[in-house]
Amino acid sequence: MGQKAVTTMTRKTIIAWGSWISIPITVLALAFGFLGKAEAQSSRPQVQGFKVTILSTMLVGDTNGIGEWGFAALLDVDGHKILIDTGAHPDTVIRNAHDLHVDLSGVQELILTHNHWDHVSGVLTLRRELMKENRNALSVIHASEDIFSSRPSENGERNQMIALRKEYEATGGRFVVHSSGAELIPGVWFTGPIPRIYPEHNWTSSGKILTASGLVEDNIPEDSSVVLNSSKGLVIITGCGHAGIVNIATYAEKHFGNRPIYGVVGGLHLFASTDEVLAWTASKLREFQTANLLAAHCTGVEATFRLREELGLNRKTAVIATVGSSFSSASGIEVGPLAK
Ligand SMILES: [Zn+2]
Ligand SMILES: [Zn+2]
Repeated sequence: MGQKAVTTMTRKTIIAWGSWISIPITVLALAFGFLGKAEAQSSRPQVQGFKVTILSTMLVGDTNGIGEWGFAALLDVDGHKILIDTGAHPDTVIRNAHDLHVDLSGVQELILTHNHWDHVSGVLTLRRELMKENRNALSVIHASEDIFSSRPSENGERNQMIALRKEYEATGGRFVVHSSGAELIPGVWFTGPIPRIYPEHNWTSSGKILTASGLVEDNIPEDSSVVLNSSKGLVIITGCGHAGIVNIATYAEKHFGNRPIYGVVGGLHLFASTDEVLAWTASKLREFQTANLLAAHCTGVEATFRLREELGLNRKTAVIATVGSSFSSASGIEVGPLAK
């Protein structure tokens, strides 16, 4: 046995003894509540500063901006900017960004959470307008693979992403199609398709999707979210949340380890949910120690207030998002006067 093998064995022995000693300590700590989710640190990279600014949602909180049934948000992580979704009308995001003095020309990457029109209609306008200042602006789009799956109907193809892909690629842009999650930058995770562990039914359309086994109900299998691993906990950014916020949170916790949720930002598609579903959703989000909720788009007014109440949050920490509202590591939730 050489020196190297002996050293390795010794290390293994030390690690083994260390593990045996640490197990009872961990068990005791958990039993007596010494180690909560807040203390459990992920070994994965963390972001330092972050800010999520809403650029498309229903409510406008100031004299600036246009409200619509749609969603878009700008993510700024330690100076690295990524746009998430592009709104429902071709020019909403470009106009709102202009009114809010948000410069998108330096943003190279775009994430599309899913194929729906209220999230993808601004893609070409934004790409063409921003290219005038920077040819690399929005030149890369991340999405999950079923975003291009056919959604046939009596009136023809319902998935506008199929035609949009060709037009976008003709501008020199390229898609990065994900079949599973990917860390886009350290501490920023694109979930990819989200396992539907719980039977959340957070979509209202009754369309069909073409799969290898034929036409089936379209549960928007590509629906993806973005999760930040911040020092205060996880921050989940959803588009429409069709995968279900509890499924999303469960998947995020599995990826990052036992960490609390510092914030949920975006659409949760709970506006049509029953009282029972809202109560269940709140009880699960409470288990994740959800500390902030900036409820945009399809979350719903009643749903937001139910979640606020049942999560024990308040008018600072659970608020309906407005165009221009934000959630940041420095200031938490900031909204316009209408949403206060
Ligand atoms: Zn949708
Ligand atoms: Zn939507």
